Amino acid sequence: MNEIKAPKGTRDIFSPEIQKWQFLENSIHAYYQKFLYREIRTPIFEHSELFSRGIGSETDVVQKEMYTFSDKAGRSLTLRPENTASVVRAVIENNLFESVTPLRFYYLGPMFRYDKPQKGRYRQFQQFGIEVFADESPQVDAEVIFSAVDFLKNLKIADIKLEINSVGCPQCRPGYLEILRKAARAEQSGLCADCQRKISANPLRIFDCKLPECAETAKRFPLLGNHLCSECRDHFKIVREALSWMNVPFLLNPRLVRGLDYYTKTAFEVTSGQLGAQNALLGGGRYNNLIKELGGPDMAAIGFAAGMERIILHLRHLTLPRPKIMFVAYQDPKWLPNAIQLAQVLRAHGCPVYLDYQGKNLKKQFKKADKVAAAFTMVLAEDEIKSEAVSIKDMASQDQIKISLKDLNSWLKKNY
Ligand SMILES: [Zn+2]
Ligand SMILES: [Zn+2]
Repeated sequence: MNEIKAPKGTRDIFSPEIQKWQFLENSIHAYYQKFLYREIRTPIFEHSELFSRGIGSETDVVQKEMYTFSDKAGRSLTLRPENTASVVRAVIENNLFESVTPLRFYYLGPMFRYDKPQKGRYRQFQQFGIEVFADESPQVDAEVIFSAVDFLKNLKIADIKLEINSVGCPQCRPGYLEILRKAARAEQSGLCADCQRKISANPLRIFDCKLPECAETAKRFPLLGNHLCSECRDHFKIVREALSWMNVPFLLNPRLVRGLDYYTKTAFEVTSGQLGAQNALLGGGRYNNLIKELGGPDMAAIGFAAGMERIILHLRHLTLPRPKIMFVAYQDPKWLPNAIQLAQVLRAHGCPVYLDYQGKNLKKQFKKADKVAAAFTMVLAEDEIKSEAVSIKDMASQDQIKISLKDLNSWLKKNY
């Protein structure tokens, strides 16, 4: 029979890499709770309509990359390709905007896109992100951006670059899009077939094209920054000022746009050059029109989503403290009950403990202790049992001491 393998674009994560994932996940919980964000967990699959309405039916994500299927009752369901639409749906459906203050959420979990797998990019991939609702202050934009950069710096990720832009609003963007369309049509021959199609559907996305000829042509296109309405201009000015107060260096990238239709005003992207070429780690921005679009109240929103696989790649030099494993050994199988009870006491104290139920003799157990990389081995033998004591061997230094069980607590306090 053929061996069954994991589907293309998916992977198994296990030790030692899994420790980095746990470290990253714990860091997210600890960091974002300091800003009063609350974790939210939404379903892995949703009604397909949520994403076609929430992301935009014209986008590559919705047109080409979604895992959509019919369930047995004929409903069209989709594995979530991102989480913002789901969080917005959950906030509306559960009336969270009436009961939760402040309206700040963070999430982490798997997302699914039928994309071309490559290094650091999978069809099932992990994202974490934050969303802030009902706050239009430009200072919030700056705080969200600050937190993204600060969080990555705390992980010791080097060469972090922040780029920001304003993508306008429904007042100023349509007028600019017409100007952009005219300019793009005039230079159509300098664009790839895909970008030519984007001219009428979503010309902003021409700036996203990675082909050098398109980037070269797009350099001559008029910029949205010169066509912002006064509200968008003022908002963006304060965001930049606030970033300066917060000591966050940034680069203005007038061609930074977002592939998703619901973004308004501030857009940003954080990359790292630590692994050579600049690698996108996270991106986000304001999306003041999505909540209304999905049937909720007219409410401002801002957030970002970060690719956790990419972040993990940047953590390759991270050394995490190794657990100090305690191996409990017994000289004779008749002392196994004592060993089991000792292990319980040690675990209750927070020690990671291993004991070998099949331990035939001490020599074999010490071999096992080396295999599990134990820091200490506790030995129970006739002598120790009789004197209500235990011998402790430091596996690195090979020093051995014998202590009374009465003194076990203070030994543990010193060593754990
Ligand atoms: Zn505007
Ligand atoms: Zn192109």
